[in-house]
Amino acid sequence: METTPYAAVMSDRPLLNRRLAGMGTTIFAEMSALATTTGSINLGQGFPDTDGPREIAQAAADAVLAGRGNQYPPGPGIPELRTAIAEHQQRFYGLAYDPDTEVLVTAGATEAIAASLLALLEPGDEVIAFEPFYDSYAACIAMAGAVRVPLTLRAPSFRPDLDELRALITPRTRLLLLNTPHNPTGTVLTLDELTAVAELAVEHGLLVVTDEVYEHLVFAPSAHRPLASLPGMRERTVTISSAGKTFSFTGWKVGWVTATPELVAAVRTAKQYLTYVSAGPFQYAVAEALRLPDSYFAGFRTDLARKRDLLADGLRTAGFEVYEPQGTYFITTDIAPFGEKDAYAFCRALPERCGVVAIPNSVFYDDKEAGATQVRFTFCKQDHVLEEAVLRLGALR
Ligand SMILES: *Cc1c(COP(=O)(O)O)cnc(C)c1O
Repeated sequence: METTPYAAVMSDRPLLNRRLAGMGTTIFAEMSALATTTGSINLGQGFPDTDGPREIAQAAADAVLAGRGNQYPPGPGIPELRTAIAEHQQRFYGLAYDPDTEVLVTAGATEAIAASLLALLEPGDEVIAFEPFYDSYAACIAMAGAVRVPLTLRAPSFRPDLDELRALITPRTRLLLLNTPHNPTGTVLTLDELTAVAELAVEHGLLVVTDEVYEHLVFAPSAHRPLASLPGMRERTVTISSAGKTFSFTGWKVGWVTATPELVAAVRTAKQYLTYVSAGPFQYAVAEALRLPDSYFAGFRTDLARKRDLLADGLRTAGFEVYEPQGTYFITTDIAPFGEKDAYAFCRALPERCGVVAIPNSVFYDDKEAGATQVRFTFCKQDHVLEEAVLRLGALR
């Protein structure tokens, strides 16, 4: 048997630990790489192909050149940004948070999710989360040694079954991990659904972590309500958001947590040993972004709603079954009308077939049946890019 000099110094034990086994490369990296090698239009990974407001980019450049934030900023985030986050929660939702004790700035929502789960979970704790899952949830729950318990959102409506949620709660359930507006399905929880979730959380003494990074990407008549604004929830909810999606600067990685002083202190403890601090100058720019006038947020939404309609109509014409999202910048489709049975195989072949990249939702489900034929497309791209993609997808007919 052949051994390399490298293998010789290692044991038979797999290098990747058991908690992360099978988590390989994220589907977004895999599909974005495929888009590059095949020269395809990338409607897979959710990042805009135009940057956010020019004056906000200028604010970041000014901060760098003025030497603001170029050295380690304060661990909880710069005071200007913490204040702007607190003002944002008050302005949009009437929620009052103390910028000094109830706000924590993180390296994107991704770190906020990781730090929250690593701080709040013991090995063996159960975490209930909607599936299809955002992929970092499964990884972070695993890194915390906890157990994920999926509540499956099923086509065509993708509403949570609240009786099923009740039935999933056990004495080991520690935490509900919510995502509304929900990536990838575009489901925005209604007030009735939020109320039911809140009542269950209170009845069973559960913590809730809510990922609300798409809070401003919601289409009328749907509206976003933070779970923390419901009775009994302010004290048990860790609310997470980020500048990436709202302001079209996904590379800046400025996120935040709002919660009680006790919860923020717990999350900060984990956060300080993950990244310590991040993105100093961008924190100044995001503080300005959060104070943009209402017209920015309304204009962004109107623009996205138009793109959603453009892509939805095009996908329907191309032969997909289209599930209209209430929020986010994703559309989930079904490929069953083409006689296709495997979303992953379909997405692997799609660049060769018509020069477009999409994401198979099937990889975000534990229940492989439920998502087997679902494929996600993003519409956060320029109109001419969406129009060209739709034209190309017409070849599937
Ligand atoms: C994009 C996204 C994130 C990550 O946000 P960052 O601020 O880029 O870390 C978290 N949750 C969901 C549901 C997302 O779609």
